[in-house]
Amino acid sequence: MLAKQAWRLLHNEHSLFCRVYKARYFPNCSFLMAELGSNSSFVWSLLAARDVVREGSTWQIGDGSRIGVTTHKWLPNALVFLHEPNTEMKDTLIWTENKSKTFSVRTAYRVALRLKSTALAEHSSVRAHGVTWGKIWKLNVPPKVRTFLWRACSNCLPMRDNLCRRKVQVEATCEFCRQELETVAHVLWKCPFTRNVWALVRGQVQKCSNDVVDFFLLFKHMQETLEPSELDRWAIMAWSIWNAQNRYYFRHVQSLPRWIMESAVGLLTEYQYLVVAQ
Ligand SMILES: [Zn+2]
Repeated sequence: MLAKQAWRLLHNEHSLFCRVYKARYFPNCSFLMAELGSNSSFVWSLLAARDVVREGSTWQIGDGSRIGVTTHKWLPNALVFLHEPNTEMKDTLIWTENKSKTFSVRTAYRVALRLKSTALAEHSSVRAHGVTWGKIWKLNVPPKVRTFLWRACSNCLPMRDNLCRRKVQVEATCEFCRQELETVAHVLWKCPFTRNVWALVRGQVQKCSNDVVDFFLLFKHMQETLEPSELDRWAIMAWSIWNAQNRYYFRHVQSLPRWIMESAVGLLTEYQYLVVAQ
């Protein structure tokens, strides 16, 4: 099975087997970094098998030399919460689908089925809510805010909850309130820290329930309830809240709720003025 070859390629990159593969299929980069682009259907299948390995394994972090977290896609985003690198130990890929932590074709097959069903579920969600997804790209907000919103709705932000599901060992509870799981809906809408910011926004937003589990459904509700200008403001506020939290995580800088709101509104006004002026 190809997943077994993918596992060997990733796990022991200095073996003869790996060097032969690399010379033939990935001469200019590592297998980790290889992307589609080759015209070989074999390479295509091998990269699909790599996704199975990616799903079923996790890195035990040593000196950090093999893990370029900002340059490849093994983790959902910049690595935020892990411990300091251990320079005496090499990074090791660990199979996490069985107790023995040993790669097997049987467990890889189970992972492949899981990936397939997730892809099907996502596809049917896009079909069922296609109009709502399309609205994200029509918002009159800076493109980076649209991209952020799409990632938030797709649950592709590096939340602790997501990291835990990908078996990165972090505390899954929200850093700010320590009361609930750190999900996208919690961080951008429900957390008491976040509520202090939303409390400053006037209009229909105040009528929306706090009790939200899924951020995409929250966006869908907002999109059906709010005026277009209110929806633009809601989107950029969510983006501003996200940035404020990252400032806290990365630089330990706390932002006042009013500043978070005013900087968002200022950016929106400036952007919309420039769009009209063009
Ligand atoms: Zn919280």
